Amino acid sequence: MIKGYIPSTKKETDDLGWKKPDVVIVTGDAYIDHPYFQTACAGRFLNSKGFRTAILDMPDISKDEDWSKFGRPALFFLVISGKEDSMAMNYTAFKKFRSTDPYIPGGQRTHRPDRAVIRYCNKLKELYKDVPVILAGPEAVCRMTTHYDYWTDKLRKPILFDSKADMILFGNIEHNLVKICELMKNGQRLSDIKKLNGTAYISKEVPEIKSFVKLPTHEKIEKDSTLLTAHHLIVHLNQNPYRSNIMVQKVLDRFLVIHKAQLPLDEIETDEIFATGFRRKAHPKYKHEIPILKFIEDVIITHRGCLNDRPVSQEIFTEGKFISSRSNENIRKEVIHFIKSKEYNKTIKLFGLPYFNHYLTGVGNQKECSDCERLSCTLPDQCKNIKTRNGEIIRIIEGFDKFPNVRNNFYAGKPDMKLLLSDKVMYKDFLTNRNDGKVELSAESFSAQVRKLMGLDDQESILKDLKFLVKRAGEYGKKINFEASVTTGFPGQTDEEVNLNIKSLKELALGTGDINNFIPMPLTLSSVLYYTGTDPVSEEKIEAEKKLSVMKNHSEWYKKTRKEHKGKRA
Ligand code: SF4
Repeated sequence: MIKGYIPSTKKETDDLGWKKPDVVIVTGDAYIDHPYFQTACAGRFLNSKGFRTAILDMPDISKDEDWSKFGRPALFFLVISGKEDSMAMNYTAFKKFRSTDPYIPGGQRTHRPDRAVIRYCNKLKELYKDVPVILAGPEAVCRMTTHYDYWTDKLRKPILFDSKADMILFGNIEHNLVKICELMKNGQRLSDIKKLNGTAYISKEVPEIKSFVKLPTHEKIEKDSTLLTAHHLIVHLNQNPYRSNIMVQKVLDRFLVIHKAQLPLDEIETDEIFATGFRRKAHPKYKHEIPILKFIEDVIITHRGCLNDRPVSQEIFTEGKFISSRSNENIRKEVIHFIKSKEYNKTIKLFGLPYFNHYLTGVGNQKECSDCERLSCTLPDQCKNIKTRNGEIIRIIEGFDKFPNVRNNFYAGKPDMKLLLSDKVMYKDFLTNRNDGKVELSAESFSAQVRKLMGLDDQESILKDLKFLVKRAGEYGKKINFEASVTTGFPGQTDEEVNLNIKSLKELALGTGDINNFIPMPLTLSSVLYYTGTDPVSEEKIEAEKKLSVMKNHSEWYKKTRKEHKGKRA
């Protein structure tokens, strides 16, 4: 196992005596050795299994010397273009150029190219034509089949066709990467590896697979965009690993094969990834601070995965359906190590996206899941087959209170309200002991119609839940600054809905939290709603307002409301 950082300079690979790496990971972000980043997880895990892996960070497309730093890897390049899609990183929801970038030193945008996956792959194929290229990360995974592209307002082909890469890994990628490396070390070519769940590749012939679901061809969807609705719904439903099928899509004269989704990782598999000695810091070669570090420096990640495939979510493709949780012991070891480090600031924040309280949440009867067509397991209400272990979570976090010097020991991020409110012990513990005085809740909208389109619970339910939580905090004698996130520009949202949202926030005495300006991200169900005007779930038709000036106005209204609320609190 590598003790220090994953090598990301030529000197580091030379010092390790590597003639050439087995794998080179290409990323548009800076290299931060923290499990928040898939690049660091993949790199550390491969190295821990004996596969020499280097990171080529923030390469400049115009400089060949950046790309020849490590030379030709023995096995393959892995392109994870960044923590987020490069188009979303480079442009705002209003399609304006962003000048800042939280993932690079100094936070000022430099040379992250638009459509980084395609640009990086083109460069690799130009310089290392015969070296296989594997893709992972949100930009590739959420473009793995026909998808809507907001920035050109067009449908685009599956990214393997545009990038000429050889394979995509989706869901949890680390164990698949090791399997692929082992098979290639034993003489197999990447093009012969065709049976791994969580992979997608192109086949020239009709694939020899006994049973698969046929997706509408890319060309048919281009001619008839109403097919996008059924197409996306099939792709999403097949991410439930207990009912997943292989999917095949014809694109011109070739075939995209998307294998079944993987099962969530068990505790041993998850622990293995997190126990690879992360330094939890940026590589020391950077001279300037990287803004995202402020957000993650105290954070201990407890789990990954997605229970709720909401119309705006992409996590189902990047982290997999259902939750992969670390063991208590594994988390404890990281906390002990962190407490001894210079970076420790007497604060521990237990965190997992999208909700901190999905940790240790699993399903009861898998057979029920194999017959289930629900996209979300806790929305609009909690499925009875969802099993929580809140008592154990409280026991784990309480254990950290006893560590020396711990001043703050919190959950970070948002709670899943349905799960939180289903357990008095959990919400009492959260409200009284486990927050830093500011609690951000997901509201998004108070309009019945918009909430339905967003895959959320109904209007009465959210109002009741928010009121309940604020009241309970008061009863427990806790002064908490509650804020609720809102979304602007979601299809179907008009001036009336925004006015209703502002009125509801005021009545509930909630601050305006994150203002999420809607971007119909690739492969989300909301991108279909935006592009076709049809809700893929209910098949209801709506008018999608596409004037960016309207979204801009709504965003300004919310900002004004936020300012007024802050003024009152001051
Ligand atoms: S049965 Fe319940 S837990 Fe299983 S997939 Fe369906 S909603 Fe989720």
